[in-house]
Amino acid sequence: MATRTRTHTRTRARPAPPRADPMAVTWMERYSARMDKLWGRLPKFAASAVVTAAVFTLGATMRGEWLMVLVHLFRYFKGPSAVASGEDEPFDWSWSQLSLERLHLQNVQYFLLGAVTVSYGMYFGIGGFLHWFWYVRRRAEPHEWKCQPEKWLPPELERHEILVGSLSLAFTSGLTGFLACYISNGGWSTVYYDFGEYGWTWWVLQWPAIFIYQDYATYWLHRIYHTPFLYKHFHKLHHKYKQPTAFSVTAIHPVEIMHIQVTLLLPIFVVPTHFVPFYAIALYTYYHGIIDHSGINFKSFWWQPWQPDAIFHDNHHQYFHVNFGFNIYIWDVLHGTYRRKDRVYNEQSFYGRGVALADASPEELRADLAERRSENPRAYRSNRRDFDLDPRAAATGATKRRHFQSHPRKS
Ligand SMILES: [Zn+2]
Ligand SMILES: [Zn+2]
Repeated sequence: MATRTRTHTRTRARPAPPRADPMAVTWMERYSARMDKLWGRLPKFAASAVVTAAVFTLGATMRGEWLMVLVHLFRYFKGPSAVASGEDEPFDWSWSQLSLERLHLQNVQYFLLGAVTVSYGMYFGIGGFLHWFWYVRRRAEPHEWKCQPEKWLPPELERHEILVGSLSLAFTSGLTGFLACYISNGGWSTVYYDFGEYGWTWWVLQWPAIFIYQDYATYWLHRIYHTPFLYKHFHKLHHKYKQPTAFSVTAIHPVEIMHIQVTLLLPIFVVPTHFVPFYAIALYTYYHGIIDHSGINFKSFWWQPWQPDAIFHDNHHQYFHVNFGFNIYIWDVLHGTYRRKDRVYNEQSFYGRGVALADASPEELRADLAERRSENPRAYRSNRRDFDLDPRAAATGATKRRHFQSHPRKS
């Protein structure tokens, strides 16, 4: 079977599609023909709207964020006072006094059930749909859309990421279920609902403040998880996938993903936080988490000058200890961990600075060059690989990027 596939490969002009079951996500493949027929009937504009909505919905539901949004909307319209907060009573920590009511966790089972069930439904349903949309439907033309068109995650790793991804999902959506219940029952937090309560200046300032705090904090958290001990024991799990897919977003060690979740949630227990900016930013972040792990050559829009293209985090998976940021690439530029053309990176080159070309061993150099050649030029703004060392490619000159004039240029 393997020999037949290889023979087939040689006869094609473009690299052949991978094996019959490259992703092992068989529940979508089984319905592929039917989906194709259905999809063909949709007008083009509706099709792209459906895909965007699918990614957005997956982001909003995967970690149970939809439930938090509902709870806050309920409190906004009904008024927080509609729920007995019990804040005036001094809290009695003795065991005999502890109860779900005292902890603001009454009916927690319904919140947990709702958060976890929707998470799993969307992870497999929408995750499966997105998988079909690109990895099945467009399998024969990876150069058109895939960041690493010649490399596919092997089936066993695809199964692995879905397994780890869904395990961690239970932790993150479980935590959200607890939190949604706690807030809904009037538990203490610094979330507020009246737009003008802390002044409009603070309301407007919160958008950049929360976004910058979350992105900078997770940059450092991620970077710290890339130091040898934490990498080996926790973060390496997420780096088993050199060709990430939408299923990899939550394929993170449960300890690490909870650490990230708590870091992101910190503002709602520390500073007065209005629910609208906080959850709008959360949905934005989760949307981009999926885009960044999709393995697809998505580009950011003109109105997101801070946002790197999907290739930025795809590079992180391909080259390991580099490009630690998520939604703002500036942190990597400032701290010298942005990928450089004159460095080689691999799983042994810790700390984000790589190895200078002159110091790299012939094996390191060979491996790095092979990785560079396997990247899709279409994943870059100029339609040429930004990190290509091929002198012919370099000689064609620098093509201006459309939006990222301030991005570090190829050195
Ligand atoms: Zn990483
Ligand atoms: Zn990742």
